Amino acid sequence: MMQTMPKLIFFDLDGTLAESKAPIGEEMAALLEELLRQARVCVVSGGALSQFEKQVVARLPEHANLGHLYLEPTSGAALYEWQNGLWHKVYEERLSPAQVTEIEGAMRIAGTETGLIDWADASHGERVENRGGQVSLSALGQKAPLALKREWDPDKAKRRALRDAIAKRLPAYAVHMGGLTTIDVNRAGVDKAYGIHQLCERLHVAEADALYVGDELEAGGNDEAAFRTGVNTRAVASPRETAAVIRELLAKG
Ligand SMILES: [Mg+2]
Repeated sequence: MMQTMPKLIFFDLDGTLAESKAPIGEEMAALLEELLRQARVCVVSGGALSQFEKQVVARLPEHANLGHLYLEPTSGAALYEWQNGLWHKVYEERLSPAQVTEIEGAMRIAGTETGLIDWADASHGERVENRGGQVSLSALGQKAPLALKREWDPDKAKRRALRDAIAKRLPAYAVHMGGLTTIDVNRAGVDKAYGIHQLCERLHVAEADALYVGDELEAGGNDEAAFRTGVNTRAVASPRETAAVIRELLAKG
């Protein structure tokens, strides 16, 4: 852990700031508001921008300093900052329609080939979602209940098999495990490490002065990319642990 308040703090969203696709709690909202007075904060996660707005921004107290908040949806494939009352897109590494079709095709074959997805079965919302800079496959559907998602792949064996089967067909892309049931595909070279580099450069913050907090920093986890940057890292197991980390940071500031 860093000895002083980092200049910039990155947080993963699902499993770190909030439960999967759920809004942040009241206590977390208050802690983030406090943190935004003292440091810049970036949320980086596989979801789309609308998901970040619902889960995080809409829950923050009205007077929160959004000028210090940065959003990197789709695993860092896009960056938004708050300008004149709106989320302004700084960049987005969008996939072309042909690329989206290619990715979707690979996902369909991989799901069938691994025996993990029967496309004829009903799902909780669409299974494949084009998020602009990323295509995401959610095995049970985008709107599956948390309890179902939790029990689907507790040891990540299914996600590993799906990821490998998709990656084999898409050598020119970045393919990684996302949330509890999700595989995310981005343009090659676009991942959370890319997002971290981009924002540190934009804000002229040395990576050594930044901190990344995430619940999947282990090998193969969706926060592992942070290790390919110069930022400090802090592993947490739940939003409750993240709250404790923020309290620790505030005590230094
Ligand atoms: Mg997570």
